[in-house]
Amino acid sequence: MSTGEIMLRACIKHGVSMDALTEICEIAARADARIAELERERNSLRDFANAVMESWPHGDVDGCDLERMAVEHGLLALKDPKPTEPCGDNCACSGYPSPEEWADGIDCYVRTPLLTGSIDAARAGNGGGV
Ligand SMILES: [Zn+2]
Repeated sequence: MSTGEIMLRACIKHGVSMDALTEICEIAARADARIAELERERNSLRDFANAVMESWPHGDVDGCDLERMAVEHGLLALKDPKPTEPCGDNCACSGYPSPEEWADGIDCYVRTPLLTGSIDAARAGNGGGV
């Protein structure tokens, strides 16, 4: 049973007005959507953690494998369009050596909002979400 259904039953039981009921249902729908969003994020992070933990207790995690897993689970994403010059001194792509590689653009991975937490910052700026 969704949060909205639970609240609807409580409102009917206690004789809440239709206006109040409508507002309460809208709030409950937003809360359900937020919960679903947080569950998707949690599942992505858990799936990433499980992928990393497959090497436990006796293996190592190769950097390329770690990058692949992070992309698969939404923690890293390719820049689009591909950069044709280094993004900055702190970006991993700044280490690409040859001008030929830069001519067609290179694969540069960036941290996604799921990894950086900017999703949370955006929510906080929006009154905390719900
Ligand atoms: Zn870069």
